[in-house]
Amino acid sequence: MTVNSLNQARPTESLSGHVDVLIVGAGISGIGLGHYLATTLPGKTFALVDSRDAIGGTWDLFRYPGIRSDSDLHTFGYEFKPWTSDNAIADAHEILDYLHEVIDEDDLARRIYLHHKVIRADFTSDTAQWTVTLERDGERFEVTCDFLFGATGYYDYAGGYQPHFEGEDDFQGVIVHPQSWPEGLDYTGKKVVVIGSGATAVTLIPAMADDVEHITMLQRSPSYVMPLPRKDPIANGLRKILPPKAAYAATRRFNIGKGRFIYNLCQRNPKLARRIIRAINVKALPQGYAVDTHFNPVYNPWDQRLCAVPDADLFRSIAQGKASVVTDRIVRFTDNGILLESGATLEADIIVTATGLKLLPFGGIAVSVDGEVKDPHDSLVYKSFMLSGIPNMAFAFGYTNSSWTLKVGLVCEHLCRLLAYMDQHGYTTVVPVVDNPMMEKRPMLDFPAGYILRAVEQFPQQGTSGPWTVEMDYWSDHERLRKGSVEDPALRFGTAVPDAERSGVTSGLASA
Ligand SMILES: Cc1cc2nc3c(=O)[nH]c(=O)nc-3n(C[C@H](O)[C@H](O)[C@H](O)COP(=O)(O)OP(=O)(O)OC[C@H]3O[C@@H](n4cnc5c(N)ncnc54)[C@H](O)[C@@H]3O)c2cc1C
Repeated sequence: MTVNSLNQARPTESLSGHVDVLIVGAGISGIGLGHYLATTLPGKTFALVDSRDAIGGTWDLFRYPGIRSDSDLHTFGYEFKPWTSDNAIADAHEILDYLHEVIDEDDLARRIYLHHKVIRADFTSDTAQWTVTLERDGERFEVTCDFLFGATGYYDYAGGYQPHFEGEDDFQGVIVHPQSWPEGLDYTGKKVVVIGSGATAVTLIPAMADDVEHITMLQRSPSYVMPLPRKDPIANGLRKILPPKAAYAATRRFNIGKGRFIYNLCQRNPKLARRIIRAINVKALPQGYAVDTHFNPVYNPWDQRLCAVPDADLFRSIAQGKASVVTDRIVRFTDNGILLESGATLEADIIVTATGLKLLPFGGIAVSVDGEVKDPHDSLVYKSFMLSGIPNMAFAFGYTNSSWTLKVGLVCEHLCRLLAYMDQHGYTTVVPVVDNPMMEKRPMLDFPAGYILRAVEQFPQQGTSGPWTVEMDYWSDHERLRKGSVEDPALRFGTAVPDAERSGVTSGLASA
């Protein structure tokens, strides 16, 4: 590790009193907003709170073998801080090092409060403030803030999605979910079955393959799996001839374009994209391998997230006979493995249930406005970062079809401009309002993956036009969030009138 920023001047006492902006979540999104606030609005007071005992969110939580990004860090990294490692696809510890550097460079450690879980947030229009209830070591306490920012990610930190399998209790070996990987789990010389075919399964299989007796990926249906170079020759070449910032900017721009081109190709010409992916898979796998059984999904490319395998490591493990893929359905767990519908049995000492995440919007925080409880599903998403009917709150929710953080960076920038605009005009509240009650609604997460469909009712919705659509395209958001004005007919600004000045005003809020 280059620097452990949290050794520096991090508060040990609980957060108390009032801050202008409270950021919930000290993952890559929350730390990102910390940078933008510190550098563009130095007069604002702010704090980051996180329920965990470490920064980094996703990149600290997951501890399974091989844990890494599947995005390239030139687009997953922050626009303001060049990614200078040779590896474009990075291991979790490299991403954590990078985040610690940002905390160090922006002197954020003194603003980070760990073990601080936000339980609820109640907005009062009279004071234009949130009262936020937090929990630390079982004790509850309150702080206030003017603006609340949810950088809570999108899934439940308490545990992953764990479907019940018949006969689980009969199994004599170890069952592990990747979200709660036991420290020091010894898999040397063991037979391992990984249930699932998503990003996690394709990461851990090659990472474990050299040590186990054999590892099997057991999937109900295939996913698209694409090899990617771990080291990007263009990025590393540019770094040799250009200063780091220029090389990073050029690589980032190129990779955004490349990602968009591939996504569009997949959406517009799925048959061609399917053929290309198949040809790449055939080339990477042993001759005569049953590609159409194990790597030919029923859905079209990019209708669900594509799984990346750096330097084709999964395919290499298969070619070396260390790993195999079985496409079948589970009947039940037995004492020594898994019985399949085909009648075959897979022997196992360890079963890894890479069955995915349990989604959870806004970190499970209960929200009310003037005493009225707000269900996120009743709100429409405004410009991908605020919710209709909920004042002074914004959130980070990135792309599902490219690097999450590309969107979050634009959101942070736009939010800082919005806060500056409010200060300039003396506004203390801002709330998005849907003027057309007949507007058609769609799920915010319009992505037919199982883990998303399971949770769609918990998430807000999106509309069909204006600022009410959730774009999954960097350049559309670039227009909207970077170039677009923060003034918008859908936003209502207001100024809370302090008690002392109020005479004959029934509501504490004067609207603009
Ligand atoms: C294994 C894995 C690999 C991934 N790889 C990629 C990738 O390569 N590219 C990509 O674009 N995306 C990837 N993702 C998605 C990834 O989660 C995001 O890209 C990104 O890391 C999310 O960052 P975040 O800061 O928004 O949220 P998170 O990293 O989830 O951090 C949220 C933080 O909020 C805290 N928090 C939540 N609720 C509360 C609360 N109520 N009170 C206090 N604190 C709270 C959590 O403790 C956590 O620290 C991956 C996800 C997983 C699970």
